[in-house]
Order: sequence, then C-alpha cells, then structure tokens
Amino acid sequence: MLNAVSRTVQIFGLTAARQSRCIASLASLPETYQMLYKTCRDFAEAELKPNAAKFDRQHLYPGDAIKKMGELGLMAIAVPDDLGGTGLDYLAYSIALEEISRGCASAGVIMSVNNSLYLGPLLKWGSKKQKEDFVTPFCTGDPIGCFALSEPGNGSDAGAASTTAKDGGDKWILNGTKCWITNGYESKAAIVFATTDKSLKHKGISAFVLPKPIKGLELGKKEDKLGIRGSSTCSLIFEDCEIPKDNILGEPGFGFKVAMMTLDAGRIGIASQALGIAQASLDVAIEYASKRIAFGKPITKLQAIQNKLADMATQLESARLLTWRAAWLKDNNKPYTKEAAMAKLAASEAATFLSHQCIQILGGMGYVSDMPAERHYRDARITEIYEGTSEIQRLVIAGQLIKEYGL
Ligand SMILES: Cc1cc2nc3c(=O)[nH]c(=O)nc-3n(C[C@H](O)[C@H](O)[C@H](O)COP(=O)(O)OP(=O)(O)OC[C@H]3O[C@@H](n4cnc5c(N)ncnc54)[C@H](O)[C@@H]3O)c2cc1C
Repeated sequence: MLNAVSRTVQIFGLTAARQSRCIASLASLPETYQMLYKTCRDFAEAELKPNAAKFDRQHLYPGDAIKKMGELGLMAIAVPDDLGGTGLDYLAYSIALEEISRGCASAGVIMSVNNSLYLGPLLKWGSKKQKEDFVTPFCTGDPIGCFALSEPGNGSDAGAASTTAKDGGDKWILNGTKCWITNGYESKAAIVFATTDKSLKHKGISAFVLPKPIKGLELGKKEDKLGIRGSSTCSLIFEDCEIPKDNILGEPGFGFKVAMMTLDAGRIGIASQALGIAQASLDVAIEYASKRIAFGKPITKLQAIQNKLADMATQLESARLLTWRAAWLKDNNKPYTKEAAMAKLAASEAATFLSHQCIQILGGMGYVSDMPAERHYRDARITEIYEGTSEIQRLVIAGQLIKEYGL
C-alpha cells in the first residue's frame, strides 16, 4: 500500500512535511491516506478544476486527464499490484474519488465506473484468463470499461432484464438493448447482464464480459444530459452479437448476484463522487461569501449566511463519515450493504442540498455559468438517480433493518 502511495507522491514531488491543509476528518487517518488525498487534491486543482467548465460546456471526454489519473494509479485503486493495479483499499478509493470529483464530477464518474462497476466484478468473479485480458490492460486509464445493467424497460427493477444470451454451443448470442451506459462511447470492454433462462426471472440472469467494438453491437446516440456532461452515456444495442463461451462471469444464473454485490461497492463510489460535488459547493460558497459585501460588510458576517454554512458543513461531514464507515466495513470483510446504501443516500442528498444552498449564497452570480455553482447543482442531481435512486436506497436500508430485527 505504501509503495503505491509513494509512487503517486513521487510523481508530484511531495513529502510528508508538505501535507498540511487537509479536510478535518482526514487528520485522524494514517499518513498514507493524507498523502493520497494531497496528491489527488493537487492533481484536481492543476488539471481538473481549470478545465471542468470546458468539459461540461463542450460535452468533452477528459481523455488526457483520465490517462494521467491512470498513471497516478487512480483508475484501478483496489486492484492488486500483481494484476497491474494500485493495491490500495476502498477507504483510499473513497478519499481519492472525492478529491477528483471536487475538481470535476465527470472525471469522478468515469473513474468510479472503471474502478468499482467494471474492474470490481472481474476481480471478484473473473477467471485467470479474464483477468489477463480484461483487468490488467484496464488499470491504466486507457482503455477503460463500462457496466451495462439498465434497460429501456427496467432500471430500478434490474431483475426484469429482457436482453437475452442464447446458448449457441461454443458461443453466447446476445440480443437486446442496454441503456444509460456511462463510458459507453469510449470504453473498450463491457460487463453485460443478460438472461440465459427467462423462466427463472432474476435467477436466470447471467453476467458476461466482452470486448468493444464487436460485431453485432451498435451504440445509440450520446445522451444530452443535465450534468456530468464530460462523461458519455449511451445505449448498447445487441443484434446477434456472438461472444466466446468462456466470456461468462461466474456461473449461468449468477448474474443478478454479481450485479447487486457490485452495486453495493459502487454506491461507496457514487457517495464519494457526491461528497466531492458537495465539498466543491461549500468551497465556492465560503470563498464568495467572504468577499461579497452587502450592507457594508462581508455576507459571512450575516447570521443567516452563517446558519446556511453550518448546515452545509454538518451535512457534508455526516455523509463523509457514513461513506468512510461503509468503506471501512468493506475493507474489513464485514457486511456493508445497508451502510453503503445509507452513505449513498446521505451523500447524494447532501450534494443536492449543498449545491442548492451554494447558489442561494451567491445570489445572481450563482445562477450564471461564470461561476461553477450552477454546474455543481446540475452535476449533483444524478447522484440521487444512478446506481439506485434514493427511493431504492431507502428500500435497501429498510429491508436490511427488517432482517436485523428478525421480522
Ligand atoms: C447519466 C446516467 C448514467 C447512468 N449510468 C449507468 C450505467 O453505467 N450502467 C447502468 O446499467 N445504468 C446506468 N444508469 C441507469 C440508472 O442506474 C437508472 O436510471 C436508475 O437505476 C433508475 O432507473 P430508471 O431510470 O429506469 O427509473 P425507474 O426504475 O423507472 O424509476 C422511476 C421512479 O420510480 C421510483 N421507483 C421505482 N421502483 C420503485 C420502488 N420499488 N419503490 C419506490 N420507488 C420506486 C424510482 O425511485 C424513480 O423515482 C445511468 C443513468 C443515468 C441517467
């Protein structure tokens, strides 16, 4: 773990003595995490923050930045060193992803999908050959992967998948449409869920890994989104797409479990992305409020503004601690389904709240694109939708509670 961090620190010429300004809760963590935080923060300040508005306005995939993130080890944080990854844990992943998302939420989701939704299941259920072909090359930031679960007819109800994978002897033949796929345009491989036996409903779903482009797979139009516009989102349309028999991940019928367990980990990623957007909103609000004069004094002296800042900081720090707790549980092989759902729910609602309040504190300047507040507001919104809406997180939390109470 130290090796990987020292590598990233070396690139930036940092020394432990220079790791001074950290978010409050980081001070209680080992120095390794603080150094990783500082590395990611400096990268985000230098490479992401100055360009995030351009990526957003021009719907531009931040390819160079993603490659540099690969060089820093950020595109495969929890993948072991011997497979080409950075060999860190999920707490490190959360800290790094928050800082990247603070600089650019689009880079954040690209990093999150590659790390937790694409590499995560391959690491857990992939064969040796699948790891060689689909993990190691994908640790570098170029190529990247994607995760295709949602369909036009079922998003929250993922068990109702209608994409089919027919047994064709020495191959699988895929037919159907997956939609809303992040990294859909740039990715060079996909984890795809399809039913191998419809009569078994969710127990008939299987997971596959396949290279892109591939014969029989077409991409739909690039979606024109409210936020995270530097990341691509599109449909994957399969028409008699043939893939080798051994491209199945785990056993036939095991796919729904793969999807649900992958999303548990993914939710820690999206919670971290939301924290980054929330922190960026707080940063902008405080900086602006300290300079804006109204009624003869900076508006930070007004109690109404102070109350907003206090509520923002409290929601942010609460969500961060929930997110770190979920990561810690995962890192220590303890159950974390409920905690990951709580983290995602709290952090995404915090991002929505903080970015909303940030605009309020900036007044008119919050409403125009000269300032980043309106982008943070647009970027925040998706965190309450993908990888399970807030309503679904509440269902997951309540379901776990009912189990815990033995009801
Ligand atoms: C920008 C973007 C990127 C995405 N990236 C990916 C990706 O990379 N891979 C992928 O597979 N998917 C991806 N998605 C899909 C995303 O995960 C789904 O949009 C999400 O799960 C919601 O599904 P839906 O849109 O079909 O909404 P629906 O399931 O139709 O839900 C509509 C509304 O009903 C509510 N609802 C549904 N069921 C229940 C219930 N049982 N109880 C209470 N309320 C309920 C929902 O909370 C929501 O408010 C992405 C979506 C977007 C917009």
